[in-house]
Amino acid sequence: MSGKLHLTNVRPWGGDPVDIAIEKGAIAAVSAVGTVAAPAGPVLDGAGRLILPALSDVHLHLDSSCLGLPFRAYTGEPGRWGRIMNDRANWRSAERSVAERATFTLATAIANGATRIRTHAQVDADSKLTKFDGVLAARERYADAADVQIVAFPQVGILLEPGVFDLLDAALRGGADLIGGIDPCEIDRDPVRHLDAVFELAERHQVGADIHLHEAGELGLFTLSLILERVEALGMQGRVTISHARALASGLRGVPATIERLAANRVDITHAAGGSGWELPLLDLAAAGVRVGVGMDGQRDYWSPYGNGDMLDRAWQLAFVQRYSSDPQVEHALAVATWGGASILDHELPVLDRLGLHPGFTSGDPAEFVLMDAVSPTAAVMDRPAERTVIHQGAVVSVDTALDGFEIPGHWGRARQ
Ligand SMILES: [Zn+2]
Repeated sequence: MSGKLHLTNVRPWGGDPVDIAIEKGAIAAVSAVGTVAAPAGPVLDGAGRLILPALSDVHLHLDSSCLGLPFRAYTGEPGRWGRIMNDRANWRSAERSVAERATFTLATAIANGATRIRTHAQVDADSKLTKFDGVLAARERYADAADVQIVAFPQVGILLEPGVFDLLDAALRGGADLIGGIDPCEIDRDPVRHLDAVFELAERHQVGADIHLHEAGELGLFTLSLILERVEALGMQGRVTISHARALASGLRGVPATIERLAANRVDITHAAGGSGWELPLLDLAAAGVRVGVGMDGQRDYWSPYGNGDMLDRAWQLAFVQRYSSDPQVEHALAVATWGGASILDHELPVLDRLGLHPGFTSGDPAEFVLMDAVSPTAAVMDRPAERTVIHQGAVVSVDTALDGFEIPGHWGRARQ
């Protein structure tokens, strides 16, 4: 892949039309339309379309997705543990293998414009490394179309069942990029041992950590303090992400100081734009300089019927749950869903620290884009145009939401009826 492309007549963030010269997968120059002759090499006529930084799904579960399969009613007990056990009871009998389902969902995400992805892959005593291997296969299949980070994720805790620590260790030897963790108080009921195991594996493999934290209120703030203690003691600044961080939505007195401590330790936040009780103080986090990204989380799986593989839908949901309505606010939600996530995967990218930023279109920025027919970014979020062109590392990887090599296109359910 040469990473060379001349993009003509595109409107970054809905602004004036420009041409963009791309070399080696990054922006070489941006110029007013028609003022610079196209060099030899591939040219893409943007036809005046809106261009945005590619979408980023930085909290995804490729292994659990049943996207595209016939709809299945939820059959488990309510609550988090009921969902975990519902998955355990049913994942083997899904119509397609983990690898096929993960590949289908990854292709759907890419075709909709997401080229920067962080997915969790469940590792537990029941599935061992089967789900992890399925996610690895999906990443391999679309290695030329998206950057995918994989988190070795102990969905059922690390301490409750034998062998999980060693399985996580094996996943990290086998290609996982980060070590995961989950609700150290509520799942393993032993936060010190849980977090010590997570950080031991992070140190052993010299990888970052991405810890699910659904714990609410004071309990969640307490767990955050335990995580931050370890970041500080082990010099893990800039290498830890908290997923969901629900306690930051609590409005408790300890939240502002926790946000400052997250910022000081360059700890990132990803979430799924959940509704009541899960709405993060996005602008406070931005003002403090905390990197925030968003993702689809589980989709059409044994936890939830929600999700459709389109991160632009999740940008809409983020704007909706934050009660955003002005253009700068909706654009901020879109910036979080594009650049915010990208800046978590690559700390070289500047942080979104306020409203009104239109990142991604200066020389040296990565040539990761999505083009669509929309008059403005806010119109794009509201209308979610179906036809999109996706560029990864300066190469066109998907045109009109039809990904080259997408061998299981979005019609499993209908095809099987
Ligand atoms: Zn999750």
